[in-house]
Amino acid sequence: MVAEGQRWVVLKFGGTSVSRRNRWDTIGRLAAKRMAEDEARVLVVVSALSGVTNELTAICAGDGIPARIEALVERHRAFCAELELDADGVLGERFAALRALGKDVRAGALALDWQAEVLAQGELLSSTLGAAYLRSQGHDFGWCDARDWLDAVSLPNASEWSQRLSVNCQREADAAFVERFSAQPTAMLITQGFIARHRDGRTAVLGRGGSDTSAAYFGGLLKAKRVEIWTDVPGMFSANPRDVPDARLLTRLDYAEAQEIATTGAKVLHPRSLGPCRHAGVPMAILDTERPELPGTRIDALADVIPGVKAISRRNGIVLVSMESVGMWQSVGFLSDIFERFKRHGLSVDLIGTSETNVTVSLDPSENLVSTNVLEELSADLEEICRVRIILPCAAITLVGRGIRSLLHKLSGVWATFGKERVHLISQSSNDLNLTFVLDEADADGMLPLLHADLIDSGAMPVHEAQVFGPRWREIEGQLRPKPTPWWPAERERLLALAGAGTPRYVYHLPTVRERARQLAGITAVDRRYYAIKANSHPAVLRTLVEEGFGLECVSLGELRRVFEVLPDLPPSRVLFTPSFAPSDEYAAALALGVTVTLDNVEALQRWPGVFRGHNLWLRIDLGHGDGHHEKVTTGGKKSKFGLAAARVDEFVDAARALDVRITGVHAHLGSGVETRAHWRQMYDELAGFARRIGTVQVLDIGGGLPIPYGQDDEPFDLDDWAEGLAEIKAVHPAFELAIEPGRFLVAEAGVLLASTTQVVEKDGVHRVGLDTGMNALIRPALYDAWHEIKNLQRLDEAADGAFDVVGPICESSDVFGHRVRLPSTTTPGDCVLIADAGAYGFTMASTYNLRALPAEDVIE
Ligand SMILES: *Cc1c(COP(=O)(O)O)cnc(C)c1O
Repeated sequence: MVAEGQRWVVLKFGGTSVSRRNRWDTIGRLAAKRMAEDEARVLVVVSALSGVTNELTAICAGDGIPARIEALVERHRAFCAELELDADGVLGERFAALRALGKDVRAGALALDWQAEVLAQGELLSSTLGAAYLRSQGHDFGWCDARDWLDAVSLPNASEWSQRLSVNCQREADAAFVERFSAQPTAMLITQGFIARHRDGRTAVLGRGGSDTSAAYFGGLLKAKRVEIWTDVPGMFSANPRDVPDARLLTRLDYAEAQEIATTGAKVLHPRSLGPCRHAGVPMAILDTERPELPGTRIDALADVIPGVKAISRRNGIVLVSMESVGMWQSVGFLSDIFERFKRHGLSVDLIGTSETNVTVSLDPSENLVSTNVLEELSADLEEICRVRIILPCAAITLVGRGIRSLLHKLSGVWATFGKERVHLISQSSNDLNLTFVLDEADADGMLPLLHADLIDSGAMPVHEAQVFGPRWREIEGQLRPKPTPWWPAERERLLALAGAGTPRYVYHLPTVRERARQLAGITAVDRRYYAIKANSHPAVLRTLVEEGFGLECVSLGELRRVFEVLPDLPPSRVLFTPSFAPSDEYAAALALGVTVTLDNVEALQRWPGVFRGHNLWLRIDLGHGDGHHEKVTTGGKKSKFGLAAARVDEFVDAARALDVRITGVHAHLGSGVETRAHWRQMYDELAGFARRIGTVQVLDIGGGLPIPYGQDDEPFDLDDWAEGLAEIKAVHPAFELAIEPGRFLVAEAGVLLASTTQVVEKDGVHRVGLDTGMNALIRPALYDAWHEIKNLQRLDEAADGAFDVVGPICESSDVFGHRVRLPSTTTPGDCVLIADAGAYGFTMASTYNLRALPAEDVIE
């Protein structure tokens, strides 16, 4: 059964995973599966049944010893019954040992070695009954005593207590260790977490996080293939899912990042448990016992580390000690005098900030016993050399990720979020892995979701790196609105035939345009619908949307001409003209055509009174704030060139009146890719306020900006929620007609860009697929860091087992469609590649840069 030289896989199961019969069935199944799939031998490391270690800890405190022992015996008897095991046959000796410990002479003095032995009983009981159960189910399991294999080491400075009850173990073993361990006859073994052998031959325990750490020690000593920590959560997340439901599962981390995340907040893995595996280079995985199909978190020595913030965490109960020096700064030994006093009170310092006259440090309650007493005594001692202020309770918010220093420029949103609060201390770790902000606990409430979203928006948290970022929590929990099924896989043959006629080529699927148009037409609060044609002005798209009842919104005379060329019979009343900084003759031409013109400044009225006199106009107002998926598409606020400043509305109204101009609509379009319901509500209230003041307004136009789910797990825009929100605001301001003018939402998903692969090249470990078109055909990735799904249409059925940077032929380093895109490793020159969701701002922004021809365009009816 046991083959020579087989490697080990170590599986660790915690308290909740060993307290139910069905969980033991899972353990048996997983162990057998690993043995088969990995062709490995399996070591299972278990904790005590849940709650048992707490009882044993109470016994160690001398609290109700006999009654607690009998209750523990009963608990294990009952569980044996559930497992259909003979309790006395299996655990008789263990029960006797437990009862003997209750009567042990050392119990009176609560001797440390006695406590260690008491604490060890939980794991000895659970592993013994587990081995018996697994064998009864036909698994080839043996049992071994962890104390025969793990030796406690004593560290200098360690107290008697920690040398017995919170030990570290030997990480190196002699050459024969693996051989000796592997000589045990059964293919699979079960042993205890948490316990080890003291150098005096008696028992020692590992303390907090002990079982994970035991598994890691075994993994390291056995040079295991892998150590798997099975828990009741899917793995490590980019934030605590309880605070941030959009937190991403972190599917791959290197040891240092995982260590930092474990240390600064995540409770999934004890930080101590990483060291032994890291030391031995053994990969770790965190997996969910209830959902073993999830990818979990893999931790190893990542070869090509992906820079970026991987997680954000919050620790509460932080105590800040601020020390104002009285003229002693930079005098020799000042810091040493301060820290000597912390040491005196057994306090370890977490973060440090210094200035010319002040030293501020933080104390983490999970590492310290920071009672009021201790703090008072510390203050008194420190007062001898400086002025002391204790600030509490504080929260420490930490961003963790490789190369945090090189990301500072992307953190402006983060700084802005903190800027509104009071930050006491900022600390950047010298290993370039973390950046921590300490602020009052109350100020930190509600911040994590905002910060998490900021980090994603700014690109500081590269969630599109599929190697690192997995699904979000809400998706795992089945709470995500599913992305609509794309149309193009079903049209693959047709698309390949079209590509055969030449690439690059845009193809637009009109049924999808119609479907989106009807979704919007179903929103009853909206009275007028216009399509912003700058998103895609293909004649067939314009015709389709006009057929669906949409008016058209243009931003240039060229767009107006296109509209009336394609649709000569379209009533001009269904057309809007909303240009920015256009020359006067465009306004004159538009007014002559009879379309509705929107103006956004007073100066135009003053300079060209003849152009506007006697006409009706709409007024575009800058409400003073913007929003959107990228800074470059934010079209409101001081820095934006769009819209009349709200403070000058009265001036505009006066100038209009003087020219006999009636203002019949007010308009605001604050940005593209806006996602919050509150944003629309506020905007509509503000517009209604202006409309009432102006007096002649009939229409409130709230612009476009509806997002689409570009990313694989971006959520589709919640139209129902939006519709509800609009119905609410309509009810508050029933006197006005509500107009919308979306572009992207109607056409983005309907379009794909087809290109051909030109070259496949490797350079310094990066594999690139070159296409016959680039940023000249689709500039969004280069301009906005936009993300588009990319597929090898030719090889849609093959596994996407390669990772490529997909690039174009343009002589610009930003000519990249996507980094580390998953494509079949067989991708070769000549393959047809599809770039999805390219129907909006694709062809309309294309150029002939580098004198590369514009893409062709086709439609599918
Ligand atoms: C671009 C634009 C729109 C459409 O924006 P989308 O984000 O594509 O919905 C609407 N109104 C005006 C004035 C625009 O300039």
